[in-house]
Amino acid sequence: MKRILITGGAGFIGSHLCEKLLNDGNDIICLDNFFTGSKDNIRHLIGNNHFELVRHDITKEYFAEVDQIYNLACPASPPHYQYNAIKTIKTSVLGVIHMLGLAKRCKATILQASTSEVYGDPTVHPQVESYWGNVNPIGIRSCYDEGKRCAETLMMDYHRQNAVDTRIIRIFNTYGPNMNLNDGRVVSNFIVQALQNKDITIYGDGSQTRSFCYVDDLVNGMILMMNNSEKFIGPVNLGNPSERTILDFAKLIIKLTNSNSKIVYKPLPGDDPTQRKPDISLAKEKLDWEPKVDIEQGLLKTIQYFDKKLKETN
Ligand code: NAD
Ligand code: UDP
Repeated sequence: MKRILITGGAGFIGSHLCEKLLNDGNDIICLDNFFTGSKDNIRHLIGNNHFELVRHDITKEYFAEVDQIYNLACPASPPHYQYNAIKTIKTSVLGVIHMLGLAKRCKATILQASTSEVYGDPTVHPQVESYWGNVNPIGIRSCYDEGKRCAETLMMDYHRQNAVDTRIIRIFNTYGPNMNLNDGRVVSNFIVQALQNKDITIYGDGSQTRSFCYVDDLVNGMILMMNNSEKFIGPVNLGNPSERTILDFAKLIIKLTNSNSKIVYKPLPGDDPTQRKPDISLAKEKLDWEPKVDIEQGLLKTIQYFDKKLKETN
């Protein structure tokens, strides 16, 4: 049994990770400030002797005795991370310094949830880990992109300077149950709009691409990375390389929900990446990992989740 701290544990990905690691027989501290996360995501775990829920903000120091830290705390959806841009960058910089300090003191292994956004609007396609990216340092996405890039720098510096056992994963667009109804990202927006027969809002002309990974696949990759025996520190891409345009994605959601929704076009937000697809050769080689869940299968489970949530809120 390991003592594991999961920051952002009440969020979308964090809640799946808490459940899996708890079921695997570990002792879990789920830490969250509930900015975008919700107790609903982990309510079924509360009461388990091996699960502890802590309301805390990682921009402040936190002390505990742990063996592993998964640092997921940070809003991930563009409208949420842009809502308070300064807070977002503080979370990625100060928050990561605090978590690295904790890892150093406890001699814990720390895994940082980085992002495909470190590649910005990529000029290399598909994206490989050796690509340094094309990021605007002064735009509306910069609080997130540059914050996450700085977090990677801090991880590497604590590793080199203080021998902290670090892991960096670069997560590509992930979806599944427990996403917030008002999350604002494309998967939740399109599904909620389709289920309510409201207009599906495509930003731009819909020719931009994304590659969507089901959350169970991602969580398996995260745990393999944390525990890999070679002490491979990354960074490593974790995502599903199956790429599609946002227009095709909208049509797929309409089909899977049997919706009467119409597609409407809205202005494209600033610095929206035009293409994104992970090269996952490194994850295959080092972790023997690749996604298994087919997009339609994963989306049907996600649609079922949102359908239930919408009925509960009405
Ligand atoms: P999410 O918004 O559902 O979860 C983030 C969680 O962190 C929430 O529970 C939120 O309340 C909490 N949080 C935010 N700021 C905090 C702070 N200062 N202190 C404590 N808790 C705080 O998002 P998610 O999709 O689950 O993303 C989890 C992590 O994975 C994030 O770090 C995100 O950047 C990264 N990531 C996610 C994706 C994706 O497609 N979902 C892609 C790339 C990277
Ligand atoms: N998008 C869209 N309609 C929406 C929400 C998002 O067309 O209602 C687009 C968005 O402009 C981007 C893509 O879908 O091109 C993915 O957006 P998301 O916010 O999910 O994540 P990103 O990958 O941009 O961080």
